[in-house]
Amino acid sequence: MPERLKAYKQVWVFVEQERGQVHPVSWELMGAGRKLADKLKADLAAVVIGPEGDVTSNAALDSLCYGADLTYLVANNVLSGYRNESYTKVLTELVNIYKPEILLFGATTLGRDLAGSVATTLLTGLTAECTDLDVDADGSLATTRPTFGGSLLCAIYNLKCRPQMATVRPRVMPMPEPVARSAARIIIHPLDLVEDDIVTKVMSSIPDHHSEKSNLSYADVVVAGGLGLGSPENFDFVRQLAAVLGAEYGCSRPLVHKGWVSSDRQIGQAGKTIRPKLYIAAGISGAIQHRVGAEGADLIVAINTDRNAPIFDFAHIGIVADAIWLLPELTAAFRARLSSHLRTRIAN
Ligand SMILES: Cc1cc2nc3c(=O)[nH]c(=O)nc-3n(C[C@H](O)[C@H](O)[C@H](O)COP(=O)(O)OP(=O)(O)OC[C@H]3O[C@@H](n4cnc5c(N)ncnc54)[C@H](O)[C@@H]3O)c2cc1C
Repeated sequence: MPERLKAYKQVWVFVEQERGQVHPVSWELMGAGRKLADKLKADLAAVVIGPEGDVTSNAALDSLCYGADLTYLVANNVLSGYRNESYTKVLTELVNIYKPEILLFGATTLGRDLAGSVATTLLTGLTAECTDLDVDADGSLATTRPTFGGSLLCAIYNLKCRPQMATVRPRVMPMPEPVARSAARIIIHPLDLVEDDIVTKVMSSIPDHHSEKSNLSYADVVVAGGLGLGSPENFDFVRQLAAVLGAEYGCSRPLVHKGWVSSDRQIGQAGKTIRPKLYIAAGISGAIQHRVGAEGADLIVAINTDRNAPIFDFAHIGIVADAIWLLPELTAAFRARLSSHLRTRIAN
């Protein structure tokens, strides 16, 4: 390792908060960061940036419960609401002063935007949308991600610059259990930035009432359909089963391309990663690009007419059947079960 890089220590996780909420991917990354820090025998640090007040200070305190040895906290009302310019300035300043070896972000809209500009400003490398992070024997960060359309996984190294930066999508890493940490500390970093220094002004935020917000990534039960369903009308069988089960519904990529389902419902490499307790996949072949987004589910039930479909290689329960027939049957069976359960509860 070049001598000038030896000053860089610690593993950092950027704790993302927007509109008063910490994005859960930040805690997932703390779990991954903990493992990297332990291998490097380095400290794990969280970086919390936001407006003054409870939300930011609670995020800093919570980060200690998710494994941080220390947390860098920058709280100033100039930082209320994400703006690329101000957040990039703060984060690059922190990096230049405290010199982390590794810097991780969630591959969310905010995380991708910020990581890209921080890496560009610091003239260091960034691996986007990693599926695995590990430390090699020489201490280098191996950032693994799909390449060649998802048919290969490659490990990318950043040997000459620091920090080594990566983004990871929500739900790719498991959520760690929070624990109490008595020896952790919070380092409050003063902000040398005033509103007049920031060119970008947010005049107002307009919520998009037309966008159909899915909670696919964090749903406990997901029902999804693929091209095997044959038509957009048949995709309603997926929606109906999901509604009866109180589940989210999703799809494979061709259905988004055909305009049958909105893109925020796509599961897979170019869509969402899911980790539900139950995943029901109907008429989906199980191509590798779909598999990488779904194989973290605890229980995968696949319905396919082709007994040799690749999805049966990773499904826990495989049903060789016509999904267009089976989905309405399942919906009717679950609905009947639900109403008999309700009747019993009312009677008691
Ligand atoms: C760069 C890149 C990124 C990609 N990203 C994604 C991604 O994020 N998500 C994704 O899903 N794909 C992605 N893909 C596409 C992926 O490679 C596959 O083409 C896609 O997943 C196939 O979708 P499918 O399984 O619905 O269709 P098909 O592969 O056509 O499979 C349809 C399946 O339905 C079965 N079937 C047919 N009739 C019935 C029936 N009546 N009942 C039950 N089963 C039936 C068939 O046997 C078949 O197995 C990506 C591809 C590339 C190159």
